[in-house]
Amino acid sequence: MGTPDNVIGGAARSCWSCKAVIAAEDSYCRVCGKGQGSHVPWQYKHWGIIVITLFGLGPFSLFYLRRSPVISRNAKFGYTAVILLLTLFVLDRIYKAWVVFQALLGSLPVY
Ligand SMILES: [Zn+2]
Repeated sequence: MGTPDNVIGGAARSCWSCKAVIAAEDSYCRVCGKGQGSHVPWQYKHWGIIVITLFGLGPFSLFYLRRSPVISRNAKFGYTAVILLLTLFVLDRIYKAWVVFQALLGSLPVY
């Protein structure tokens, strides 16, 4: 027991994605290849999360949000609330459109 052997000092840090120990000057993880610091993949950045939510995955952007190394805990909480509210809003609109559609079908004359 005692101090762990893998502590290399200030020159090393761990990858945010796979926790492998990498050198401080590495822009990309040598194990999993994920970008570090300013090289973090775009889908983990603030605008990436927003783009994914609005144009692609919707609430599935929460997956990237949770793993993001560049977004603070408080910001993640805010994003999560906004994404869930947006999802509820969209589902509500879809449901109302469906109700209107059903009403239209029901009001068509039957021959
Ligand atoms: Zn890694």
